[in-house]
Amino acid sequence: MSKVIDNIILRDDLFFIEKLIERNGYRLTDQRKLILEYFFVSNKHLRVEDIYKELRHENVSLATVYRTVKIFNDIGILKEIIVDGASYYELKIFSQKPLHIHFQCVRCNDIIDVEEREVALKYLELNKAIEDINDLEIYDVDIMFVGLCKKCREVNKWQGQ
Ligand SMILES: [Zn+2]
Ligand SMILES: [Zn+2]
Repeated sequence: MSKVIDNIILRDDLFFIEKLIERNGYRLTDQRKLILEYFFVSNKHLRVEDIYKELRHENVSLATVYRTVKIFNDIGILKEIIVDGASYYELKIFSQKPLHIHFQCVRCNDIIDVEEREVALKYLELNKAIEDINDLEIYDVDIMFVGLCKKCREVNKWQGQ
């Protein structure tokens, strides 16, 4: 077990993830640990290229990043968010912010996590309403709000638009 990862991911969480990976017939190799660690450290939405750029000096190939991210997504460690045909990934388990809504800025392309408590409660209400009205069971939600972020709105105001 690498020293670095021990400090970033709680030992119990890492143990759980390792078992999950093994139960699905894979191994948590050193490269996969690095990728996992980067998700914990960065705590944001990452593309395969972002991960590769960060870890290529650590002997992690682009093919390894692709394959690992796919495995992690299949077994529920990561969640995939597709924006304009591009895949972004974020932690799904042991995330600091499990329940949130995504907002994408059309100007700077930033993806923002909306995670205020009131919004999260409305989100749960909406889930419940959809389930009740349509008599179904929801496992996951994938809504993307699109518009201008706070920063870009300020630029707009400043430019007098
Ligand atoms: Zn923006
Ligand atoms: Zn997110």
